[in-house]
Amino acid sequence: RAKEKGKNNYQLYTPQMNESAYEQLLMENDLYKALEKKEFILYYQPQVKTTTGEIIGAEALIRWKHPKLGLISPAKFIPLAEETGFIVPLGEWVLRKACEQNILWQKKGLKNIRVSVNLSPLQFKQKNLIEKITKIIKETGIRPEDLELEITESSAMLDPNFTIKTLKTFNQMGIKIAIDDFGTGYSSLAYFRSFPIHKIKIDQLFIRDLNKDESNKAIVLAIMGIANSLGLKAIAEGVETKEQLNWLKKYGCDEIQGYLFSPPVSSWEFEKILVEKQ
Ligand code: C2E
Ligand code: MG
Ligand code: MG
Ligand code: MG
Repeated sequence: RAKEKGKNNYQLYTPQMNESAYEQLLMENDLYKALEKKEFILYYQPQVKTTTGEIIGAEALIRWKHPKLGLISPAKFIPLAEETGFIVPLGEWVLRKACEQNILWQKKGLKNIRVSVNLSPLQFKQKNLIEKITKIIKETGIRPEDLELEITESSAMLDPNFTIKTLKTFNQMGIKIAIDDFGTGYSSLAYFRSFPIHKIKIDQLFIRDLNKDESNKAIVLAIMGIANSLGLKAIAEGVETKEQLNWLKKYGCDEIQGYLFSPPVSSWEFEKILVEKQ
């Protein structure tokens, strides 16, 4: 594969390759230049208070506008960026862009909402992560409490003692922390209870089949129970139907995020939603 030979080694397309191998090759060759070519774009998905329907946050989700392949989903290139280390500069760009967007919305007089940014496992491990984040907060002028960082459950569990130390620093800085994709990793609850976090994001896996399978309801109830007893907020990801919403409302899930309210949209579309729905 091209990436194994290093980033400057281009490999030629051969007719034997199927379409997805060709796409993969294009992505591997083009990824490094895409940042300076300004091909990345952030979409934003509303996070909504379940009881009132009020928008209280926006999760920043990256897309790649590839000149040949069109809009590429992060599921396709984030793993590649993670493998090659490119996620570090890319993640920094995301963080800066999201903070700038928060300030832009404020300057336009829109309702102040918190912005959530995904931190990849490799990013989270960087020794100078705190300095980088501090610098971006200073330079963009975002209030630290308007910034939420999402780390996945698995990422948090890689080195729990390091995680505790890092999260404590985030707390001192005033940044909010959410645990992403909760329920899909291997959490040790003994460690989990000592993580200074603010929110649990219930993975969409459990929400998707909520009304099809009683065991999903049991799991979601258990996760909300953990959140509640640890004094954390719970947000359900991937809420697509009224039935799911009603059930989550009934059992007191604090926040929801999903296609039912809105898919991730461009910053200007998000602005429109903010204006219309508030
Ligand atoms: P995630 O952080 O768990 O983000 C939620 C994903 O669920 C998003 O996919 C979102 O579009 C999708 N989603 C939201 N509501 C619904 C729904 O109702 N139904 C369904 N089927 N899906 C829904 P997306 O944008 O494709 O991102 C996929 C993953 O890529 C993210 O999962 C995150 O792990 C990663 N990612 C995205 N942007 C970034 C980034 O800037 N940095 C890093 N490190 N990872 C990112
Ligand atoms: Mg996320
Ligand atoms: Mg998630
Ligand atoms: Mg996910």
